[in-house]
Amino acid sequence: MKINPAYNTRENITELYNKPLLELVYEAATLHRKYHDPSEVQMSSLISVKTGGCTEDCGYCPQSAKYNTDVEAHKLMTVESVVEQAKTAKANGSSRLCMGAAWREVRDNKDFDDVIEMVQEVNSLGMEVCCTLGMMNEEQALRLKNAGLYAYNHNLDSSEEFYADIISTRDYQNRLDTIDNARKAGISVCSGGIIGMGETIDDRIGLLMSYVAMDTPPESIPINALVAVEGTPLEDQKPIDSWELIRMIATTRIVFPQSVVRLSAGRTQMSTEAQAMCFMAGANSIFAGDKLLTTPNPEFNEDAQMFELLGLTPKVPFKDGEQPKSHLDEKIEMKKKEQVRREQELKEAREKAEANGFAPRKVTVTQD
Ligand code: SF4
Repeated sequence: MKINPAYNTRENITELYNKPLLELVYEAATLHRKYHDPSEVQMSSLISVKTGGCTEDCGYCPQSAKYNTDVEAHKLMTVESVVEQAKTAKANGSSRLCMGAAWREVRDNKDFDDVIEMVQEVNSLGMEVCCTLGMMNEEQALRLKNAGLYAYNHNLDSSEEFYADIISTRDYQNRLDTIDNARKAGISVCSGGIIGMGETIDDRIGLLMSYVAMDTPPESIPINALVAVEGTPLEDQKPIDSWELIRMIATTRIVFPQSVVRLSAGRTQMSTEAQAMCFMAGANSIFAGDKLLTTPNPEFNEDAQMFELLGLTPKVPFKDGEQPKSHLDEKIEMKKKEQVRREQELKEAREKAEANGFAPRKVTVTQD
């Protein structure tokens, strides 16, 4: 039951959302127990592999180059440092690593080749690898899949109607197309939204309706509470009440009983009791580690204490799907061969010149 047939229209989801809270949570908890092990919560880590300087204007995001925030832009991390961080995350109990790059879209360049290698390396550590890299076409999705990508994150953020109030540099259909490209490549889809941006309840239901309208809803649905960051257009938004987040999580759990519902950004503003209610209401994943891309998040040891207190255990990787195989990437392999060929040619030219009594100047070959 990927979509609950009892709740697949705007009217009945609205009715569900507005139920008395405890009744809603009870219904969500009942379904949660039917389709998931309620004692397990997946710990995921999110690394910002390329930070800031993004050309998009998402009103909630401190990484947009259009806003004056404290975020320092960094170029793409090296494959080695990503692997190091992945190992630490794994040692701390994370079974999934999400790599986020502040890009409008994926470009077929050296940075993307590096991301492909990151996916191959992290997959070989036995972690579920997820990427969030902006828009991508089908060919790029296939390269990621071939490298061993497990999931692609691309949030719809809110309803189509509210979307234009938050972002002007791309439209809702662009988002849907990227999700479709991930789906066509056989990559598991992670897509969710943010509440607390000034949207109405109808917009929250509209977000869920966008997923109901898909042939297959996302396997993973992150629900974020806005973390209002100074310098962004949404800096003055008041933090939402935890009850609203609990209500949204419970509704999402009931409408999509089999999806993983992720309690994502905004946990630092929540008490342990409120987080416990979220787990009760069907959340079965959190993001661990002290940073969520650029915004604060509870430390690993705080979460370990909470898990112990609530009797939760971290979920092992690949419980919901097989580990993808990592294959060699044709484009990278061709570039490597070309590099070897050029180096060989240069070496031969140098040897020839030296044999003829010349001392050629030093030339270094670099990959583009
Ligand atoms: S949310 Fe992503 S696409 Fe939007 S500005 Fe931030 S980094 Fe760019």
